[in-house]
Amino acid sequence: SHPARLSVQVHPYAGNRRMLLTRDITSLEQAEAMRRDFVANVSHEIRTPLTVLAGFVETLQNLPLDAEERARYLGLMAQQSHRMETLVNDLLTLSRLEGSAAPPATRWTRMRALMAQCEDEGRGLSSRLSSHGHRLSFSMEADSEIAGAPTELQSAMSNLLSNAIRYTPGGGEVAVSWRLLPDGRGEYAVRDSGPGIAAEHLPRLTERFYRIDRSRSRETGGTGLGLAIVKHIAQRHGAELRIESTLGKGSRFALVFPPARLRQATPLSAVA
Ligand code: ADP
Repeated sequence: SHPARLSVQVHPYAGNRRMLLTRDITSLEQAEAMRRDFVANVSHEIRTPLTVLAGFVETLQNLPLDAEERARYLGLMAQQSHRMETLVNDLLTLSRLEGSAAPPATRWTRMRALMAQCEDEGRGLSSRLSSHGHRLSFSMEADSEIAGAPTELQSAMSNLLSNAIRYTPGGGEVAVSWRLLPDGRGEYAVRDSGPGIAAEHLPRLTERFYRIDRSRSRETGGTGLGLAIVKHIAQRHGAELRIESTLGKGSRFALVFPPARLRQATPLSAVA
């Protein structure tokens, strides 16, 4: 009952047309296979914390635990519920990004403000994840204003920074920068001294739920959806997501914005 397949049978001799339709079916079938994979992945990702939670509930119901043990179990249960909440929030973000029109280039946000928020979040996350933290640096060569949806821009920038911190062992280096390229485009970049990524993984990194190190992702609160979200936000803002990495040396993730989305920020002295 596939409509495209039906057309192929109706026009058996339409040479070129048949080829076109065959290609259509292939992409429809691919889309369908991707949808099935996605549903299976989501179900699996939700079932895992749910199973753990159910196990703890049963333990609490059946075992005579002292106050300290109960508190420990409740803490672990809170962790699992938090994980499910993060996952559902990321899924909703993705579906909202897919289902809505690109944000108009009419609202301007100051890069300095976005960077300041990144810095706050980055320092917080680094100290939560590692007792000696990371060597974090933030630099801005120009204070630009950028057009788009401020919350989306912040989310994309924070996501890349949070990945750099999460995958780089404590004590490692993470450098965040904003600069204008000679051709007028603007580049937000996050460079880390983490494990790096083998070339074969790079093309698949922005696929939903694609993770190289599943346990590291999970331990640090990852959902496997971060880069898929970043990619969508980049596309909606006409930006390019660039990933460069050397195994064992570290990675560099950059968002490159077109000149049309940028303007020079009014100097603060001129505002006052
Ligand atoms: P996750 O929630 O698992 O971090 P992402 O979509 O943000 O999901 O990233 C996908 C995968 O890409 C991660 O699981 C990790 O394997 C890899 N990755 C992302 N950023 C980095 C980085 N800075 N260094 C090394 N690996 C990274």
